[in-house]
Amino acid sequence: MALNSSAQPHFVLIPFMCQGHLIPMIDKAWLLADRGVIVTIITTPKNVACFSSSINGAVESGLAIRVEQLRFPAAEVGLPEGCETLDNLPSMELMSSFFAALRLMQRPVEKMFEELKPRPNCIIYDRHFTWIVETASKYRIPRIWFDGKNYFYQLCCHNVIKFKAQECFSRGETFTVPGLSDRIEFTAAQLPGNLNSGSSSAMKEQMEKTMEAEGGADGAKKQNVWCIGLVSPCDRNNFYKARRGNEALLTDENQCLKLLESWPPSSVIYVCFGSLNRLTPTQLMELDLALEASKRPFIWVIRGGYKKEEMEKWLKEDGFEERIRGRGLLIRGWAPQVLILSHPSIGGFLTQCGWNSALEGICACVPMITWPLFSEQFMNEKLLVQILQVGVGVGVEVAVPMGEEEFGATVKKEEIMKVVECLMEEGEDRRKRENKLAEMASRTVEAGGSSYINITVLIEYVIRQATDGY
Ligand code: UDP
Repeated sequence: MALNSSAQPHFVLIPFMCQGHLIPMIDKAWLLADRGVIVTIITTPKNVACFSSSINGAVESGLAIRVEQLRFPAAEVGLPEGCETLDNLPSMELMSSFFAALRLMQRPVEKMFEELKPRPNCIIYDRHFTWIVETASKYRIPRIWFDGKNYFYQLCCHNVIKFKAQECFSRGETFTVPGLSDRIEFTAAQLPGNLNSGSSSAMKEQMEKTMEAEGGADGAKKQNVWCIGLVSPCDRNNFYKARRGNEALLTDENQCLKLLESWPPSSVIYVCFGSLNRLTPTQLMELDLALEASKRPFIWVIRGGYKKEEMEKWLKEDGFEERIRGRGLLIRGWAPQVLILSHPSIGGFLTQCGWNSALEGICACVPMITWPLFSEQFMNEKLLVQILQVGVGVGVEVAVPMGEEEFGATVKKEEIMKVVECLMEEGEDRRKRENKLAEMASRTVEAGGSSYINITVLIEYVIRQATDGY
């Protein structure tokens, strides 16, 4: 696509429909638009509803961000209408239908490409849209694969695969990841999807396809890596902090603030297992009992459709909510997580170790209890607990793939209480370390910081490809 060197480059962003992927992509849209790029985000209506007011705010402030909506082909693959996000799937057995729907989006996206003005100069896409390989080559523009995970995870996976590190060990035996300066140990049962024999075949098949497609991408593998971020918006105002993520389901932020205001600094525990949040009712009960027995104030996000009726029945019949009134708050919708974490009353964050949550915890200087569930979360846990020393592990030993929660082990009340006490009593050193990390992170996005420079280099790369012919 020919581009005059003085013209504004046009980037198309195609996020995966799952909050953990969507949120950092929307943050990237801000960062790029802030540097003079025209950004078009292509996604489906239910996903647009998750971020529309924050994007409207960006547009009102003069940033060139546009949103183009496409219908999600749910009916064509047998998904219920309106089921447009991974966290919304009624059953994990429908995961392969969800990926089939993503494949059906190729034609409509390409049709949209024909009509976009100015013509796009680059696509930044989530790895799950494997067909972007064809689209980018058809329109002769760079495709940049966006990965919201961290380098520690990338390096661990790379070395495990390269040295076939886990092959001589049974699923429960620990092995050391070769080639790292720290002694990092896992069992095969803790490894992410494609490396874990316990993952579902739909997930493995999808992972293989995505890895194949990553091969020739301009970002990551082919020739360049542009590290952009940190994208956690701790410096934005309360309105945007609260609206990060699924604002369509957002719980009234004043309810959280009211509880937080009524407790002293560093006293409240915030519990959230991310956007996919699938604890079994048995696990929920153990956690309930532990939080109640800890006698500490807490905010706990129990949202999610998984076994909802069973959970609600238990919460109601047991009278848990009554007993914790004034001290504990249960959030059933979407929590304003960044707003909560940045409140001075928060003293600890029990997290599933999704990378967005981990970064948000570090930037808010909140020590963490790590409770990984699946995917790269066990690797993030090692980074948080062993290397950065900002967290305490609850001691989960085996990853539980989505859809197989009932087969996972339950962490008992006593173990949970032990780590809660340890974190809340000995949080100061962890907080100090986080302070330093948060400062370093915020410098990366300032003018002259590494992220700032990487955005410049990326934009120049895209302009060069557009002017020289890709
Ligand atoms: N999040 C939120 N409110 C919720 C649940 C999650 O704001 O009730 C946000 C959280 O701040 C983070 C993202 O959703 O930005 C979750 O991403 P993460 O990488 O932690 O985990 P995933 O959801 O992908 O497992």
